[in-house]
Amino acid sequence: MIELDVPDAARMHALGERLATLLCAGDLLLLGGDLGAGKTTLTQGIGAGLGVRGPVTSPTFVLARTHPSLVGGAPLVHVDAYRLGGWDELEDIDVDATLDESVTVVEWGEGLAEGLAGERLEIHIDRSVGPAADAVDLRHVAVTGIGSRWDEDQLR
Ligand code: ADP
Ligand code: MG
Repeated sequence: MIELDVPDAARMHALGERLATLLCAGDLLLLGGDLGAGKTTLTQGIGAGLGVRGPVTSPTFVLARTHPSLVGGAPLVHVDAYRLGGWDELEDIDVDATLDESVTVVEWGEGLAEGLAGERLEIHIDRSVGPAADAVDLRHVAVTGIGSRWDEDQLR
């Protein structure tokens, strides 16, 4: 597991952009963390890094949205799993692109991880708790790679 402190929203976006340079079609990222933690902000950075079309907004009401790449790369499939029962339901959603050919980022995805055999990145974002009033923007990010696709050296 890689852990890092992200001091503000701009740097969460930048983290997503950096992460995108490691991503390719078929990759799956499960994001966890409370409402307002920064899951969508991170995904926006990933979208920017992948060079996708369209604003990356929270897919709360549509469950999933596909953003084609403008630069010939993998499309971004952005999923909100908050109201999703399980992985089967995700596979049933019509997202215009198969998960094999997309980078798939699932907000509230941690609940789906149980029983998933495949390789994935699990990213948990926490608001830092503490007395420091000037640290309201600080987030703690823990990145765990599952499967041989994600060895730790690669993530550093
Ligand atoms: P989530 O998708 O987890 O509900 P969002 O990304 O939609 O969260 O919202 C996070 C909010 O917190 C945004 O308004 C963002 O500007 C703000 N914010 C402040 N500090 C940070 C940070 N370090 N990382 C990410 N977002 C931050
Ligand atoms: Mg969100």
